Amino acid sequence: MTEKKKPPLTKEQIEELREDLKLADTLTRIDNTLLILSGKGGVGKSTVAVNLAAALAASDKEVGLLDIDIHGPSVPTMLRLEGAEVEHGIGRGFEPIKIAKNFKVMSMEFVIRDNKDQAVIWRGPMKHRMIHEFISEVDWGNLDFLIVDAPPGTGDEPLSICQMAPPKSQAIIVTTPQKVAIRDVKKSINFCKSLGMPIFGIIENMSGFVCPTCGSAHQLFKAGGGEQLARETGFRFLGSIPIDPRVVISSDEGKPFVTEYPASPTSKAFEQIISPILALSSPRLKKH
Ligand code: ADP
Repeated sequence: MTEKKKPPLTKEQIEELREDLKLADTLTRIDNTLLILSGKGGVGKSTVAVNLAAALAASDKEVGLLDIDIHGPSVPTMLRLEGAEVEHGIGRGFEPIKIAKNFKVMSMEFVIRDNKDQAVIWRGPMKHRMIHEFISEVDWGNLDFLIVDAPPGTGDEPLSICQMAPPKSQAIIVTTPQKVAIRDVKKSINFCKSLGMPIFGIIENMSGFVCPTCGSAHQLFKAGGGEQLARETGFRFLGSIPIDPRVVISSDEGKPFVTEYPASPTSKAFEQIISPILALSSPRLKKH
């Protein structure tokens, strides 16, 4: 029997295959991807993403921080990278911004030319394409950890990143202790479950207030909601991060809090949180 000849691939199909291969190649060089998710805005998701990335880099890991908040990127401000731009060279892809030898950053803001205060008005497929490029077209090199700061909620960006993330991807869910935040965070948990995205654990941010002067702890909001949520849902509770007014100052000044105030209770909380995360990285990874 003569075999039926397959029609040749169209130009678009070849291009799609080429892009998928590129994505697959990049993903093989990323040991762990951690998606920082939250059901609600303002709970400190970007703060957690930046400080986790900085703490992991300070522990000598190769770290990439990818900000996929296309409409309201916070990472550039939190790392004093406003106005930074990356070039897209033909055949080379984007060169991420290197803020330390082992700490690379990429954000939507770095590719916007002209007015950076302009609102980005994009539909889902365009966002999906951009996120695809942010992974496959960025020269990340070999990474122990790619930390992804996603916008709040369960919209296009978290959906895209969950669909294209590598096999060793896990989500970290950030909440604050109040019931209003917890309710929305449950939606993020269900979102991950529906997409088959494993959840590494839950962090409770803004959990109590430690006075920077006297060191005494106060409960501004009801604490413990995140821990209770972890118990209810069966996910690991990674830890509570107290409020420290200096977090706002260091964020606005573009300096990661954990490297600015390493001895503070808030930085110690980050230190405790990264301990099981550090255990995820495989020792086989070759340095770039
Ligand atoms: P999200 O990414 O969830 O919208 P952000 O990370 O932008 O939230 O944080 C919102 C605001 O809260 C920022 O001004 C940040 O500096 C502040 N913040 C976050 N976590 C803390 C904390 N533990 N202590 C004090 N301020 C915090």
